[in-house]
Amino acid sequence: MELQDLLFSQGFGPRRVCLGLVQHGLVTVNGKPASDPHAEVEPENLSFTVEGKPWTFHAKAYLMLHKPVGYECSQRPGAWPSIYTLLPAPLRQRPNKGATPGVQAIGRLDQDTTGLLLLTDDGTFIHRMSSPKHHVPKVYEVGTAAPVEDDQIRRLLAGVVLDDDPRPVRAAACERTAPEALRLTLTEGKYHQVKRMLAAVGNRVTQLHRSRIGTLELPADLAPGQWCWLTPGQLAAVS
Ligand code: URA
Repeated sequence: MELQDLLFSQGFGPRRVCLGLVQHGLVTVNGKPASDPHAEVEPENLSFTVEGKPWTFHAKAYLMLHKPVGYECSQRPGAWPSIYTLLPAPLRQRPNKGATPGVQAIGRLDQDTTGLLLLTDDGTFIHRMSSPKHHVPKVYEVGTAAPVEDDQIRRLLAGVVLDDDPRPVRAAACERTAPEALRLTLTEGKYHQVKRMLAAVGNRVTQLHRSRIGTLELPADLAPGQWCWLTPGQLAAVS
């Protein structure tokens, strides 16, 4: 692969911009300044920097973001900034063969929800993970307005009916973690599901944090607003 094409594939802009980056001495390859945009490179075994920042080649991008409060999971947000502004430009610009450029969030979290969000530019992966048939358990830490009662836990586990579907939705697991907090595991992803389920049993969500998707846990050292690549092992575990 030519260096210019490698930079293009990773989202560093149109080919003429990638050409300019190399010609202006803004790219290093394996520690040395690159001068030939057409030089053949082996992407997998390459360490390179662009404008002083190291970048690792990824044929497809799979990442996790610790979503902070006050961000919308939308490309065109209404009242709050978009989570996509938390990502570096190359991740937002990666070319995507006719589809929207850049990585997309798999599912959404509300503006006031924090926690684990997966993003990718792999359309097949998004489709599979979002399919109702793909019952990946998602774990939420929930703060409640009123003390959690045994009967509320029993009803969340047995199933509650929400206003848009006569079929009951139930928690796969539910345990009290403090008088006014519980840990809820869901295998579906309906709109505002946690908040509506808690409302259905007569309580109210005051805080919501997603801590886990399948076996993938939000790392304790990933601060709100930070992102990291998924390792191949993490990707396999969550697929
Ligand atoms: N359920 C909700 O109510 N909100 C979220 O953000 C996620 C799940």
